Amino acid sequence: MQYPRAKKKFGQNFLIDSNILNNIIKEISPAKKERIVEIGAGQGALTSLLANSEAEIISFEIDEELFSQINGKFGNVKIINEDFLKFNLRNLFKGEKLRIVGNIPYNITSPIIFKLIENIDIVKDAVFLIQKEVAQRTVAKTGSKDYGILSVILGYFAEVKIAFDVSPNVFRPKPKVHSSLIHIYFKEKRNDIDEKLFIQIVKAAFNYRRKTLKNSLNNSIFKDCDFKKMEFNFNLRAEELSVEDYVGLTKLFKEFCNGKTRSTSPTA
Ligand code: SAH
Repeated sequence: MQYPRAKKKFGQNFLIDSNILNNIIKEISPAKKERIVEIGAGQGALTSLLANSEAEIISFEIDEELFSQINGKFGNVKIINEDFLKFNLRNLFKGEKLRIVGNIPYNITSPIIFKLIENIDIVKDAVFLIQKEVAQRTVAKTGSKDYGILSVILGYFAEVKIAFDVSPNVFRPKPKVHSSLIHIYFKEKRNDIDEKLFIQIVKAAFNYRRKTLKNSLNNSIFKDCDFKKMEFNFNLRAEELSVEDYVGLTKLFKEFCNGKTRSTSPTA
């Protein structure tokens, strides 16, 4: 196979190891009647294997050069030459929840995960190869050094499993970081909280991870809220709160701080 010059801005690190590729396919385990959306076809290393399954495959590739190389090459796989982040996933939904997979561009891991959460009602699961350190954050427990925004948000919306770790040697070009394959199983919608508010609170809390909640929230879009009205220990730090603590906080904010958010553009 010919390897094109990789474009850094698109996070291109192509998989060249058939063993790893087969193990990724095993984890995805594509089945009949499923609609599987791949992010970043590249030269089609994974796409070609997915195409051998009985699932219906739709694959995104933002790079026009790569797109023109692989378009039409893999039987009935539909390749879409667009930015996955800008595409309306609802246009792909036909009643069966979508499965999302890929050796994704590592620089947009978080935006991809947030996009799936916004579409949680039409997404079943996701199998992604990502940077190992980020994978650790997706499964981190309260109070640990890796515990952060991704841990809390995925803790609420999903169950996450690290399937296996992957060495830099199986890519070309070799990335500077180690990788892990993660499997995200999205939960059914709980509908117990304002989910947008929950995400805003978690982001604001971890914005200053070493400070107390009181401090970080006072420096956030929530600075006009009257924290004294809420029965909650705001002297804790973001990393000390469990997912359910954030759920509780979201309910308090809904009751005592609704509509008082504002942007925090610096005034000085
Ligand atoms: N799956 C291939 C390629 C992985 S590299 C393999 O494993 O070999 C990641 C791929 O995602 C690159 O081909 C890159 O061009 C593509 N990509 C980067 N940003 C994208 C975006 N926003 N939408 C769709 N594809 C993107």
